[in-house]
Amino acid sequence: MTKKSFKSGFVALIGAPNAGKSTLLNNILGQKISITSRRPQTTRHRILGIKTTEASQVVYVDTPGMHLGGKRALNKYLNKTADTSLMGVDVIVWVKDDMQWDAIDISILEKLKNEGAPVVLAINKIDKVADKESLLPFIQKISLEHDFQSIIPISALTGKQLGEFEQLLLTLLPEGELMFPEDQVTDSSERFMATEIIREKLIRRLGQEIPHSLSISIDQYKVEEKITRIHAVIWVERDGQKNIVIGDKGVGLKEVGTQARLDIEKMLESKVYLNLWVKVKKNWSDNERELISLGYRG
Ligand code: GDP
Ligand code: MG
Repeated sequence: MTKKSFKSGFVALIGAPNAGKSTLLNNILGQKISITSRRPQTTRHRILGIKTTEASQVVYVDTPGMHLGGKRALNKYLNKTADTSLMGVDVIVWVKDDMQWDAIDISILEKLKNEGAPVVLAINKIDKVADKESLLPFIQKISLEHDFQSIIPISALTGKQLGEFEQLLLTLLPEGELMFPEDQVTDSSERFMATEIIREKLIRRLGQEIPHSLSISIDQYKVEEKITRIHAVIWVERDGQKNIVIGDKGVGLKEVGTQARLDIEKMLESKVYLNLWVKVKKNWSDNERELISLGYRG
């Protein structure tokens, strides 16, 4: 039996605001994930989403600073950071929602090509083009005059050609191993940071009283256009500990929640709705299975 080789790699999505990047990702990943929130960059790339299948793992990333202004801003941005911003990605996808091609586009393409990764042009919003035939001359002209790896018309909204788009990416990705757990769909560090912030506020409030087996998990982490909704669970081992965390008339938990929310909002640069639950999980710290279900993989 021949085993098909596994492919994995990083795909950078770039493009002017409103081109349809977020829509494209949501459609590919089949769910809405962390996209609009931004935290100060600690890494070069921001992971937008991870798609893992039997045959591949594609990590979609964007680069800081791509969100400001239009095409001109994108060009300027690439001028400034061309050397590092896209370093290490395997494919660059430029999402474009118009059929314009001018000096700025040429300049953007030149810079992208300097990065050394294949550049795919995804012409988005083709559902809005009444006369589909009119796409062809444009695509032909660009592909003759410019050195794209590929040009593909898509509709991020309706899903048209997205299967083909993903197939195309796979042909451009190297063979490789899983880089993230297969069930991870987005950058977990924001979630993790959120739990750390909650923990910090609990420690500050409770001091020595804090149950040492306390742990925090995220039940729901949903990024919407204007707000990030987080449901977190504070796990303790005993009812008595639960009461300590909740505090008199719930004041303790409320204060922790407010302080944590303000910090998480700063981190995400987004409004946050934070819902905190305290739950009792008996002797979880002794039980390896439970540890795994809480996300402690050692
Ligand atoms: P981003 O700024 O590049 O992330 O763009 P968004 O994904 O937020 O999309 C901007 C707008 O374009 C939204 O109103 C989307 O619904 C719309 N849009 C995105 N893709 C398509 C598409 O394929 N067809 C149509 N008609 N609209 C789209
Ligand atoms: Mg977007």
